[in-house]
Amino acid sequence: MTHEVLIIGGGLLGCAAAWHLARAGLTPRLIEARGINAGASGQNAGSLHFQIERRFLEPGGTGHAQGGDIVRLNRLAIEEWAGLEDQLGRPLDIHMHGGLMLAENEADLALLSLKVARENELGLPTQLLSGAEARDLVPRLASHICGAAWLAKEGHANPRILADAFADAARASGATIETQSRLLDLRRVGDDWQATIEQSGQITTASARHVILASGHWTARIAACMGLNIPLYLAPLMMSVTDRTAPFLPYLIQHVGKRLSMKQTDDGNMVIGGGWASAPQRMVDGLPDLDAPPHLVPDNLRANLTVAAGVLPCLRARSLIRSWTGMTCISADQLPIVGEVPAAPGLYVAAGGSMFTLGPLLARMLARSIIERAMPDEIALFSAARFAHLNAFVVQP
Ligand SMILES: Cc1cc2nc3c(=O)[nH]c(=O)nc-3n(C[C@H](O)[C@H](O)[C@H](O)COP(=O)(O)OP(=O)(O)OC[C@H]3O[C@@H](n4cnc5c(N)ncnc54)[C@H](O)[C@@H]3O)c2cc1C
Repeated sequence: MTHEVLIIGGGLLGCAAAWHLARAGLTPRLIEARGINAGASGQNAGSLHFQIERRFLEPGGTGHAQGGDIVRLNRLAIEEWAGLEDQLGRPLDIHMHGGLMLAENEADLALLSLKVARENELGLPTQLLSGAEARDLVPRLASHICGAAWLAKEGHANPRILADAFADAARASGATIETQSRLLDLRRVGDDWQATIEQSGQITTASARHVILASGHWTARIAACMGLNIPLYLAPLMMSVTDRTAPFLPYLIQHVGKRLSMKQTDDGNMVIGGGWASAPQRMVDGLPDLDAPPHLVPDNLRANLTVAAGVLPCLRARSLIRSWTGMTCISADQLPIVGEVPAAPGLYVAAGGSMFTLGPLLARMLARSIIERAMPDEIALFSAARFAHLNAFVVQP
C-alpha cells in the first residue's frame, strides 16, 4: 500500500499538518520516534511573537530586512491563533491580551521606534508607549523602563497541550498516528518514497507519494542522510519558571535590547526565557547528540534571571522552581523553510525559528501546498526553493 502522505514527527507542525490533510479527505500517516509533543513543541516558552523579534534586530546581519518579511507572516498568524480554539473545539490556554517590547535606554528607544515605524508600514498596528504608559499597563515594571512597543494582539499559549489537540483532531478526521516509530531511512523508489521504520523493535517499510519532514531540529540531519542540504542550525535553549504569585501580568513581555521573554501562567507562575543558550550533549564523534537534552549553562541562567528581575524587580521575591532545556533550529536566513525540496520532488520540509508562533499557520499552508500541488502565494517567500542552489551538486544515494 502506498500512503498519500507520510509525516515524520509528532510535534506541533506534524500533528497540525496531519489534521489539515485529514480534514481535506486525505489519510495521512504520521510516525513519531518518541511521544506526541516530546520535542521543542512541548518544551518551548509558548510566546506568540507577532512583533519583529529582537533576533531580527541584532546588528551585523540582514536581520532588519528579514524582520520585515516575517511581519507579513505574523499578521496571518494572528488570525490563525485567534480562530484556533473554535476550529479545534476545545480550550487551548490562548491569551492574546497584548505584548510589550521594552526599552531601557536611548539606544533601545531609537531601535524600538524604527521597528514600530517599519511594522506600521507593513500593516502591523504596534504603538510606541512612554515608560509611564507602559507602567500604566504593568505597574510593577522597573522605573528605568523608558518606553515600550505595544501590540494589542500579542500573547502566549500553553505549549503542553497544543500538539495533542491537533493529534486528537487529526485522528478523529482519519489520520493514523503512531508513536515509538522512528524513521531510519528514506529513499526515492520510482515516483514514490520508501521509508524504513523502526516500531517497537520491529523494522518495517512503507511507501508514500509525499513525505513531510516535520522533524524539528532533526530535519537537517535526516535530510543529510539522504544527501540533501537543508540549512537549519541547532539552537539549544533554556527556560525557567518561578513559584506562583497573584495574577499581575496578563501580557507577553519582551525586551528590544536584551534576551528576554516573560509571561504569567493561569496558575500564577512566571515563565522566563528569551533565547538564552544551553549546551548540547556530544556524541563520541563530537557531533551534538540530537536526542539528549542539552545541559543548562549556569552563567546563562543567572544572566537570564538578572535581566528578568531588572525589568520586574518584584521577581526578586520569587523562588525558581524549575529550569529546563530544549533544542530547536533556525535557518541560514532566520526565516522559516517551508515546502517541497526542489531536488527531491514529493519531499516537504517545515522548520525554522519561532515555529510555535508560526506552526499552526505554516502547517495549514504546507497541507494546502500538497493538496493543491502549488505553493500558496502567502508563503512563497519562505519556500525551500530559495536554498535550491545548495543541492546543485547532490547525488542522492
Ligand atoms: C526552550 C525553547 C523555547 C522556545 N520558545 C518559543 C516561543 O516562545 N515561541 C515560538 O514561537 N517558538 C519557540 N520555540 C521554538 C518552537 O518550540 C519550535 O520551533 C517548534 O516547536 C518546532 O515544532 P516542530 O513540530 O517543527 O518540531 P518538534 O516539536 O521538535 O517535533 C519534531 C518531532 O520529530 C520527531 N522525530 C525526529 N526525528 C524523527 C525520526 N527519525 N522518526 C520519527 N520522528 C522523529 C521528534 O521526536 C519530535 O517529536 C522554542 C524552542 C525551545 C527549545
